[in-house]
Amino acid sequence: MKEKNYEAALTIKEARLTIAFTGAGISVESGIPPFRGPGGLYERVSPSIFEIDSFLDDPAGSWKMLLEYVLLPLLRARPNPAHEVLARMEEKGLIKAVITQNIDGLHRRAGSRNVIEFHGTADELECLRCRTTYPAEKFLPVPLLKSSPGPVEKPEAQTGPLPGSDVSDLIRNFEPPRCPRCKSILKPAIVFFGERIPESALARSFDYARKTDCLLIIGTSGVVYPAAMIPQIAAANNAQIIEINTEPSEYTEAISSIFIQAKASEALAGIEHYLTG
Ligand code: NAD
Ligand code: ZN
Repeated sequence: MKEKNYEAALTIKEARLTIAFTGAGISVESGIPPFRGPGGLYERVSPSIFEIDSFLDDPAGSWKMLLEYVLLPLLRARPNPAHEVLARMEEKGLIKAVITQNIDGLHRRAGSRNVIEFHGTADELECLRCRTTYPAEKFLPVPLLKSSPGPVEKPEAQTGPLPGSDVSDLIRNFEPPRCPRCKSILKPAIVFFGERIPESALARSFDYARKTDCLLIIGTSGVVYPAAMIPQIAAANNAQIIEINTEPSEYTEAISSIFIQAKASEALAGIEHYLTG
């Protein structure tokens, strides 16, 4: 592991343009579970809460589910040391951009500046008609945002039904927020199944994927398309692929030049040690 961290640091130092590509795994240590697998969100709710047609069929019901199981846990989460290492690497000019599949906003909150949010963000709401976006906090009851349980030991602790009957009442009585401009219903500005990837995120990500000579993949299984194409494009353009994951992924055997099997925060701390040393 030490040797691999050293090798990864050397590759990053020698690269012309390093890009990070992250998935749900980098936020697990912030208490946000992945969707799939043991302890994942899909054990508690159906994946259909992310289908745009289900949302349009029943915005009120969808909003309550999304609020309880997705938006509030994400809005209350804090960046972990893995996000922080990436922010410092950008500041030192060691990485150019972070392309993330995550919707939790934690890269920006950790201080990363050039972040491409491929699947949108839970920090904002967008109007279904005029497409104006607004900060999510503006439309959510303050007591819900303030009911932060603080740091958590176990991911489950933060994502189960929220404690307290006041909070459950607020969720039960929550009405879908409406656009101040056109009065249409607002939806979380995350990319639902059946929706397109925001055009500029798609174009910029694929452009970086073609240009990078060192792609750092962190905590993604590589099964969600078209995001999963980003490492494939980079590899086809001869980029070095450094992968960090607790388990082998779709990329490990296929394209990874260096595979570090470890938690994101541990591997990134190890790499940073050799970058600065
Ligand atoms: P995924 O759930 O398919 O895969 C997560 C990967 O992270 C797995 O390969 C797992 O082995 C690895 N992992 C788990 N813990 C880790 C750790 N501590 N350190 C390093 N790796 C770890 O996630 P995905 O590939 O990102 O695709 C799922 C989709 O769902 C994406 O669109 C993603 O945006 C979305 N999602 C987002 C969040 C979030 O915003 N935090 C959370 C769950 C899912
Ligand atoms: Zn509108």
